[in-house]
This record gives sequence, C-alpha cells and structure tokens, in this order.
Amino acid sequence: MKLSLYRSFFYLFLTTTLLSARTFEDVKGRKIEAEVMSSSGDRVTLKLDKTGKSYEIAMATLSVGDQEYIEEWKTNKKSSGNIKEGSASGKAKAEAEMNFDADWPKLINSDLGIEIEIVEQGENEGKFIYHSPNYEFICDVGLSKNVVKKFAVLFEATREYCRLLPIATMKAHVPGAEFRNRILLFEHKEDYIKNGGPPSSAGVFMSGRKGGDIVMVPLVSLGLKKVGSSYMYDYKGQNKVLPHELAHQLTDGEYYKPGARGWFSEGLAEYVAVTPYRSGKYMVRSNLSAIKDYATGFGKKGLGGRALGEDIQAPDLKGYMLQPYSQFTSNANFNYGLGLLITNYFFHMEDDRSNINAFLKALKSGQSGEEALNLLLNGRSWDEMESDISKAWRSRGVKISFK
Ligand SMILES: [Zn+2]
Repeated sequence: MKLSLYRSFFYLFLTTTLLSARTFEDVKGRKIEAEVMSSSGDRVTLKLDKTGKSYEIAMATLSVGDQEYIEEWKTNKKSSGNIKEGSASGKAKAEAEMNFDADWPKLINSDLGIEIEIVEQGENEGKFIYHSPNYEFICDVGLSKNVVKKFAVLFEATREYCRLLPIATMKAHVPGAEFRNRILLFEHKEDYIKNGGPPSSAGVFMSGRKGGDIVMVPLVSLGLKKVGSSYMYDYKGQNKVLPHELAHQLTDGEYYKPGARGWFSEGLAEYVAVTPYRSGKYMVRSNLSAIKDYATGFGKKGLGGRALGEDIQAPDLKGYMLQPYSQFTSNANFNYGLGLLITNYFFHMEDDRSNINAFLKALKSGQSGEEALNLLLNGRSWDEMESDISKAWRSRGVKISFK
C-alpha cells in the first residue's frame, strides 16, 4: 500500500457506502436509506441504514422505481453463479458479518473454467476491457481471451481466499454482477509509472481514484511476455506484490484505521501473498512454514522475503501497533515482516480467535484503535501480550524480543 491510500483514506468509506445503500421511497412518498437483504415473491427484506434493523415488507408498498430496482437486484443474484449460496450483496454481506465463526480455509481452489467477456476492444480511447466474474481488467493493449483467462484465475482465487477468510471483510463478498474490482493493466512500465505507479514496484493499490479503488499492474508483473505481436502467459507465483495489493483492495476500510493500519492491514496482505499459490490454488494449510521462511529468511526457493532472521529485536508492541502509517512505512521491510508474524499469531497461535475477532468487530462498529486494542489484550497487560507472542513464536523456532 502506498501513500495515495494514506491521503485519501476517507474515500474508502464513501465507496463502500455507495455500493450498497439506496434511498427507497414508499407510495406515500416517505424515504428511507436501506439495503436489500433478500426478496422472494412479492416480499422484500430491507435493512435500514440508520438502525441496522431488517424489515420484510410488500414490494407493492414501494415506488415503481424501487420495485424495478429490486427486480434487477434479483436478476443479478441469479446471474452471478460464482458464489454458491446467496450471491446477492445483501445476503453475501450478512454472511460476511457472521463469518467470524467460520472455519479457517485449508485450500482455496478457484474455478479454472471461469468465463472471460470482452467488453471493449480499443474503440474508446484505445482501451481494451475484459470481465472475469468479479474483475474488470482495463488494458492499454489488446490481449487474447485465453491469456486474460489465465491471469484472471489468480485474481479470482485471491478474491475467493479473502472471501473465505473468517475476518468478515465485506468487500470480498460483493458479487461481480453488482460491482467488479477494477484492475488497470499497462503494456509499458513507463506508462504505469506515469499514472502514479511507484517506479520500483510490481503493482500498486490506489484508493479514492475516479471510479473507486483500483489496482494498477504493468503486464510484466502478470508473467506476460511478448512473443511476436501477441502476449504469452508465464506466471509461476513468484510475484508476491500482486496478491498483496489485491488483498488490500478487498480489505474493508475499517481495518485501515489507526491501531490496525500498518501491523494488521499489511500483515493481512502479507499473509495472503505469502500463502503458497499454484494454478488457481492457495495452499493455506502450508502457511506456517511459508510465513516463517518469508519473514525470517530471504531467497528460499527464489521467493524473496523480509530477512528478519530468527532472533528478532522488536520495538515496544503498543508503540509499534499505534505508530503513524508514515512511520510504519519508513522502516517498511522490518515492519511488514513483524506485522506478518504478529498477524499470524492472532490468527493461529492463540487458544482461539476470539481476541482478534473482538478487535476486528470493534473496528467495524466504529470504536477507536485504542479501544479495539484493549479487546485484543483481553485483560492482559502489554508486557503479557508481548510475552505470549514471543512464547508462541519461540516454540516455532523464531525468537522475538520486544523492547
Ligand atoms: Zn501493502
């Protein structure tokens, strides 16, 4: 994540809200802000934005425009078959709110038979637009459907991974039929840089852009190589930047609040990116050794890494978790690596996930970072929590000494 996110942090909330809320009007002209949760026959269940409560009402009590909107919503729900049960965002989001208690996924297997739709072929400003079930790829050069299909699998698998992570990040639950995550692809690295891509980066998440949050990627990062006049695909999963940035795009705005922003927002993106990936599959069950190798080492299996070593001198934990993001990124390599180890601790090394769940729920409900961190502590002092993290990692061969 780059500074652009820092500057335009508040846009995240705007885009999230715009996706789901609508002003409904009944036949008497009364207006409410609500979201469709479900609908069958001539009944519809609306969730009021103000109170969060859901009501089932007869569709006939709503304006003609609203009735049409609900019919369209139902059609979208039917047409997006890539999410098994309840593909509509309302239901998907309700599901997401509850998925804190779901089992941790062991293997993510995205559908290799995904369909690619060609939307534009250069007629408008030389743009080529392709749709996979949940992504919109906007490219400055034409690609074959087959090539798009090959790299789209990585995007779809990453989204499916974020959706199944039991951390209730709602953005990963909005079906593509309602909103496709936008990806800008550049044939030439110079054009990527001209459009704001950091020169040494392989991809970047930008929030608050016109048209919402985007990830920009130069084609070379996708493993595309020009052969003659067309592109060939050759991605072996070495590029950790891409899944990292895609995870950011699917992380809810609340998880970027101070107190989470940095150690957790980057730790989560690293967690997703470091997970062994191959041909549409994320092998989540092999995560522990992959995370340990990546955080402590460098270059094992040619996969890069943060190279923190196995005897880590860490700063004071409270200061680390609450530091401003600009400070966090000024020592990026160390802080990202430590964030990954700590995030993994809360996901997998405590007795259960109740502490991290309470922390995330508090952020979602609008509590401050410090209030949320108190729930993460769950009665422990900061020293005690530091010691719990150290002990857990020590038994896996990594020594972390907090100041
Ligand atoms: Zn990042």
